[in-house]
Amino acid sequence: PLITFEGIDGSGKSTQARRLAEHLQARGLDPVLTREPGGSPGAEEIRALLLTGDPARWSAETEILLFTAARRDHLEKTIEPALAAGRPVVCDRFADSTRIYQGATRGDLRAVVDDLHARIIAREPDLTFVIDMDPAEALTRGLARRSGEDRFEEMGLPFQETLRHGFLALAHDHPERCILIDGNRPEAQVATEIAARAESVLNL
Ligand code: C5P
Repeated sequence: PLITFEGIDGSGKSTQARRLAEHLQARGLDPVLTREPGGSPGAEEIRALLLTGDPARWSAETEILLFTAARRDHLEKTIEPALAAGRPVVCDRFADSTRIYQGATRGDLRAVVDDLHARIIAREPDLTFVIDMDPAEALTRGLARRSGEDRFEEMGLPFQETLRHGFLALAHDHPERCILIDGNRPEAQVATEIAARAESVLNL
């Protein structure tokens, strides 16, 4: 199965994705832990183009194309081969991040995002953990661990609030694959809940 983690910056997604992969490994499975943007050599190169440099470097349209190009390469080179080999894939962010981040900044381009997804990606996760977190807390955590190389990190609290609502709506609109997780709790407690939910939903 393809298991994705979504949520605002600093919500603990990356940590929880890693912990779930470690849990699956301990259970005798052979998971692939990956991330977006990135997750394959080509997509990591595109990630660097997206996240560094002048924030005005790319138009919103170009940015959507770059995220989609990165996702396509990641899907072809990393995700699909792993799934074909019977390995669970745990991915930190996937198409939902593009829907919500680019939807929040350029809502008028949402149809473009959806159309590109349908034509170029055409795959949804089997299970998505949406980690909900107080944006002020997440921002503090996020900025505390950031080095300043990511141009998205400066966007501030109101933007994080908008994103949070986008992720809550996503979980509400897709109950068939999304599980909303309260991330305002100790890391180990969140990890225990996620592992239990993943095992029960996916019959692992
Ligand atoms: O999750 P991670 O920190 O690796 O994401 C890198 C940055 O890219 C984040 O600041 C995130 O807000 C941004 N991003 C974005 N649109 C996406 C995916 C990530 O703006 N579709």
